[in-house]
This record gives sequence, C-alpha cells and structure tokens, in this order.
Amino acid sequence: MARIDYNDYIRVIEGWPSPEISFKDITPLLADAQAFKQAIDDMCLPFRGMGVTKVFGAEARGFFFGTAMAYTLGAGFVPARKKGKLPYKTIGEEYVLEYGTAVIEVHEDDVDSGDKILIVDDVLATGGTAAAKANLVERLGAELLGFSFFIELDFLHGRDKIKHLGVPINSIIHG
Ligand code: AMP
Repeated sequence: MARIDYNDYIRVIEGWPSPEISFKDITPLLADAQAFKQAIDDMCLPFRGMGVTKVFGAEARGFFFGTAMAYTLGAGFVPARKKGKLPYKTIGEEYVLEYGTAVIEVHEDDVDSGDKILIVDDVLATGGTAAAKANLVERLGAELLGFSFFIELDFLHGRDKIKHLGVPINSIIHG
C-alpha cells in the first residue's frame, strides 16, 4: 500500500486554544486506519529491538499514541495524568506549557529501577512536558531509552530542553 502524506491528516486550527497558538489537531490521523497505523509504525521503528519495557505518555493525546506503541513494542504503558486524577500514591512534577503551567503525576509503583522507558507524545512544542516526564523517569530510578514524537515544532526549540539527556529524539514530521 502506498504511504500516506501525513500533512493530509493534520488539521491546523489557528488561534486555538489561545490567540498565539497554531494548534495541530491530530484527530483526522487517529480516525484513518492507514494513517494511524503508519504513524504508530514510524514512531516505533527506531526503538524496535531496544528492549523498551514501558512507554510513558501524558494525558490526553500521549495516551492515543502511547498505548498503541506499547502494544506494538510489546511493552507496558504508564499514564502520566493531571494532578489529582490518579487514585493511588503518586509522584508529580510541575512544568511550563506553551500555554499555561501544569503538574503531571504517575503512580509511583508503575515504574521500577529495571525499566527501560520510551517517552511518547503527539507534539513536541516547548519541551516542558517531555522534560517533566524525563525527570519523573529519573526520580523513579528507571532508564530512559529515548523520546518519540509525531510532530516537532522546530521554532519552539523543545529539543533543547531534552537533548542533554543524550538519548535518541525521534520526530516523524517537523512544523
Ligand atoms: P510542550 O510541553 O510545550 O512541549 O507541549 C507539549 C504538549 O502540549 C503536548 O502534549 C501537546 O499535545 C500539546 N501542544 C503544545 N503545543 C501544541 C500545538 N501547537 N498543537 C497541538 N498540541 C500542542
């Protein structure tokens, strides 16, 4: 089957949720069987055979990609959620977003020191979310194997917040 052009499956909404944001809506990609499968396969490709034990994705769009990637890689999935959403003992990390600030939390027993973690999200924007997740991985004593994003917004230089970690940063398309 011919490869699809991802640009046909990303809807750009200018000025949402705030005037300065050019929002990349990936729901058309999720809704198309071939496009979604191609994206999951491309996002997994550099990390196949690396022994990923857990994929780490943040609410909410990190769940869509992260759970499918965990299944594809034969790994578990660790949800990072907004403060107060997880019912058991958590550890949290505060971070700055392209729009606002937030705290993400994970259940402290979802990750252990033997885990090899792949951090996943739909968009790498300012890098605050990815850096916060990397801090959580470090605080939980696990090994970070890399990052996989569907879209990287190059002009926001999010990569600069995580490149010092020295692990692969895979982005499928750049905007
Ligand atoms: P950041 O922490 O700035 O790298 O932001 C990453 C998170 O915010 C991701 O979970 C994205 O889903 C979301 N995000 C930030 N900017 C955008 C954007 N322009 N379009 C779509 N999602 C975005």
